[in-house]
Amino acid sequence: MRISVVKEIKPQEERVGLTPANVSELVRSGHTVFVESGAGVSAGFEDAAYQEVGATMTDQDGAWAQAELLIKVKEPIEAEYRYLRSDLTLFTYLHLAADRALTEALLEAGTLSIAYETVQDETGLPLLTPMSEIAGRLAVHAAARHLTRDGNGPGKLLGGAPGVAPGRVVIIGGGAVGANAALLALGMQAEVTVLDMSPKRIRELENILDRRARVLMSNPVTVEEELRNADVVIGAVLVPGRAAPKVVTRDQLSLLKKDALLIDVAIDQGGAFETSHATTYHDPIFEVDGIRHYCVANMPGTVPETATKALTNATMPFIKSIASNGAEYAIVSDAAIAKGVNTASGRLVQPGVMAAFPDLA
Ligand code: NAD
Repeated sequence: MRISVVKEIKPQEERVGLTPANVSELVRSGHTVFVESGAGVSAGFEDAAYQEVGATMTDQDGAWAQAELLIKVKEPIEAEYRYLRSDLTLFTYLHLAADRALTEALLEAGTLSIAYETVQDETGLPLLTPMSEIAGRLAVHAAARHLTRDGNGPGKLLGGAPGVAPGRVVIIGGGAVGANAALLALGMQAEVTVLDMSPKRIRELENILDRRARVLMSNPVTVEEELRNADVVIGAVLVPGRAAPKVVTRDQLSLLKKDALLIDVAIDQGGAFETSHATTYHDPIFEVDGIRHYCVANMPGTVPETATKALTNATMPFIKSIASNGAEYAIVSDAAIAKGVNTASGRLVQPGVMAAFPDLA
């Protein structure tokens, strides 16, 4: 199959859809891979590395024109709509329910679009989990940094020191983000509490965290008790398909120590704290009632090399299946890929997107 990868042109996106190692694997399997010049540079992969493993370097027009299967990271932006066509399979994050213009462009062009975020197997959403794992770990990096004076914080070391108490980290939501945050915080010797409201998940967390953290059932009373002593509160809740539940209200900010730091990882779903709004790495923190909030919506964006490798580790099995079987056979033979299909032959087929745009269904 002819497979292309293009340079991401959405602002602040530095990941790339395939690494040189991925290209090598595809070329060895007999596929032809076209790479847009410069596609991997900001993720740490030079053109020469792709060339060495057999990629054909080309420009943006060439990569789109040659592709039977086009691999991206982010959804096409308006400048890329002109490349969509009916004999193209597009595999990328799409988030169509929030993007009517792109949904219409894909339907009009008749493109077969398969969205990373709706691919679903028995483990859940395998192409979202790697970014949550990274964001959870980065939340603890952010906590450690912004507790120091250098990070405009109170001047505390998260892990304490011999004879000095460590920082207290309270994590609300113990899924992929929360468990990874907890593991890293424990590794830094912080004192960690995780709250979740799923009894099944609470039992799993007891094992994952090996009883080194307190794992508690989340309810308003317990949340309030934990807020009083926290140095860092990480919001990591998710109810699939819904806006994040607000687990800390504005009134409850008064319970916090004045130098506590709130980190809202769930901000991409509207935020777990009532007082959150999305920020970027350029200006990550704001204050409400004197309490600092860190609400970066695209946390993995600061580690494009790690994030690219983690993402492609997860996408590659699906890319190989689509490439060797052909997209149509891959869809009928693999239920996980079938769940990923959003538009096909000018029809909208993804239930969540159909609910968002009933007139296009
Ligand atoms: P997940 O489904 O693995 O885990 C969510 C957990 O929250 C579940 O265990 C669930 O039981 C729990 N939960 C739900 N409601 C709760 C409540 N009221 N109180 C306590 N626990 C509750 O989800 P995830 O992959 O860990 O993602 C968490 C959030 O992080 C999502 O909103 C996701 O979109 C977001 N995220 C953000 C970034 C970023 O860059 N900011 C990156 C990746 C993920």
